[in-house]
Amino acid sequence: MVAVKGSNTHVSKVTNTYGHKMPYETRSICPECKRVLSATVYAKKEVVYIKRKCPKHGVFDEIYWESVKEFDRARKYANDSRGLKTSNVSITANNGSNCPYDCGLCTNHHNHTGLSNIAVTNRCDLSCWYCFFYAKEGDPIYEPSLQQIRTMLKNLRAEMPVPTNAVQFTGGEPTLRKDLIEIIKIAKEEGYEHIQLNTHGVNIANNPGLAKQLRDAGVSTLYLSFDGTTPQTNPKNHFEVPRIIDECRKAHMGVVLVPTLIKGVNDSDIANIIDFAMRNIDVVRGIDFQPVSFVGRMPKRLREKQRITIPGAIAKIQEQSGGLIKERDFFGIPCVSSVTDFIEAITGNIQFSLNTHFACGAATYVFVEEGKVLPLPEFFDVEGFFKYLKERSEAIKAGKSKHLEAAKILFSINSYIDKKKLPKSLGLGKLIFDALIKHDYSALGEFHTKSLFIGMMHFMDLYNYDQQRVERCQVHYAMPDGRIIPFCAFNVIPELYRDKVQKQFAVTWEEWLATHPDQDPLMKYKRDADKLANEALYKKIYSPNKYLNPGFQSAIYTPSQEYLDKLKAQEEAALKAVADLAAKEKAALERARVRAKGKASKAKVPKAKAAKGKPVKKAKKKK
Ligand code: SF4
Ligand code: SF4
Repeated sequence: MVAVKGSNTHVSKVTNTYGHKMPYETRSICPECKRVLSATVYAKKEVVYIKRKCPKHGVFDEIYWESVKEFDRARKYANDSRGLKTSNVSITANNGSNCPYDCGLCTNHHNHTGLSNIAVTNRCDLSCWYCFFYAKEGDPIYEPSLQQIRTMLKNLRAEMPVPTNAVQFTGGEPTLRKDLIEIIKIAKEEGYEHIQLNTHGVNIANNPGLAKQLRDAGVSTLYLSFDGTTPQTNPKNHFEVPRIIDECRKAHMGVVLVPTLIKGVNDSDIANIIDFAMRNIDVVRGIDFQPVSFVGRMPKRLREKQRITIPGAIAKIQEQSGGLIKERDFFGIPCVSSVTDFIEAITGNIQFSLNTHFACGAATYVFVEEGKVLPLPEFFDVEGFFKYLKERSEAIKAGKSKHLEAAKILFSINSYIDKKKLPKSLGLGKLIFDALIKHDYSALGEFHTKSLFIGMMHFMDLYNYDQQRVERCQVHYAMPDGRIIPFCAFNVIPELYRDKVQKQFAVTWEEWLATHPDQDPLMKYKRDADKLANEALYKKIYSPNKYLNPGFQSAIYTPSQEYLDKLKAQEEAALKAVADLAAKEKAALERARVRAKGKASKAKVPKAKAAKGKPVKKAKKKK
């Protein structure tokens, strides 16, 4: 399918209850048959739930946010966007009731793409038990060609009124592609300013200089899986992380740590993750916590055991940091739209804006000043300033002088800053004024290198699915058929988009081997944990911190016996799950090798490479 550029505008809203007080109506889907259903978001005993009834499969009532108080605070920033001027699907008889079955983006989607994703492979050399997306034995291999990737990048840039500026290459594991550097260069050629690589980082750890090559090609940020600070909470790359951070430090590559949070597995390690990031603040730009979204169908008992939501994770940060980072330090993502709205009002130019649903994400910034942890709201009245900014934007839109409103900002900025607490090296008032009025963003880079971004995004699953959220999504996947699909439609109902389209554009293993004769599609990474743990880098990076103040440090490093016992039990369960899966994978791998060899010899391939563990060297040429 070729992308269709329509001339529509934002024509309808699915429901008119966005930002309303609870209870309110929305739409969801049945986790069993996936039909679209009316749903209610409501409060019960300080917890927010989403409930719907399927005529065939009964009632589904799921936790939506773990705090009514925090939900209502975030709800204040609900802000609807201007929609899109282009869509990538032909218009159906769409009044929104068919969402998410009309994705493309469709005419009802409320937001432009904020961060685009392009999956460059579905292969991965790790087999994490909590991963929802890697090629398993027998799966066809999806690896779009360089031309297909270029077309997807062009398609995203063609979005109006705001062309996409940021792309993340993801997988599977993108570093398994030998032409990754070329892919990044193509993104640069197509005009992308921000290029992010979503990776487990193991190949960066084991290939000195790869981080520098990626940086030189144009990668701005490594979006690095990092689920905890111990081998138990982070089985994926705990031992490799010291090398990865070191390689990125040498390459001047910024890193965002990405922990998937699972209750009872790594939620006791949240403050340690923050602590780790602060100790590496010269490299680590931020943390993006992702409360777990469940893959496929799952029994209620297990969901209740493992479900954690944004306010639950933030409460843990407050608790585990000894109150140094508080719940009130976090704000819903759309709060920043008051800044872009103001710039838009004063310049008359349409701006990139962050108007995702208020329940999708939250964030704050934290500074380390003279060994003390200092969240931004400790010295800057974020809420008051954003409110004031909104009033100024409305005044300009109502016809007041832009110059007068800008002058008001200049004279009032300092009243929102607590000079006594302000980090000495941070000229915050000037920085805000330069960005807002002069549109000089050079000082923002300095702000980012001195602070740590702590964000959360809770991707949805079949059980907490809310159509109001997905239709405001700004994290989108581009597909080779020309469509652009919101993340929570792409991954939550994979049979509709992700799996269906990737299968359509995939090749069989045999075909893939013919064009990649020196590679093994099932190659798995083998770790030498003892060797890695004995390296000086490892010992240095996991040693006790030197920046944080003693309150925080003791909150982290002196856990109770009860906590330690619980952690041990969880660790044992997690390790058993990993071992079980590894055994299954090993058996599958052997079966696959036998099958691949068998097929290759049947096809009378000239002398298959017989060396143990090597794939067939040549098969029939793909046209
Ligand atoms: S998620 Fe967006 S693009 Fe997809 S059907 Fe809903 S409104 Fe349309
Ligand atoms: S990816 Fe999901 S959680 Fe994130 S903005 Fe989109 S709808 Fe919200």
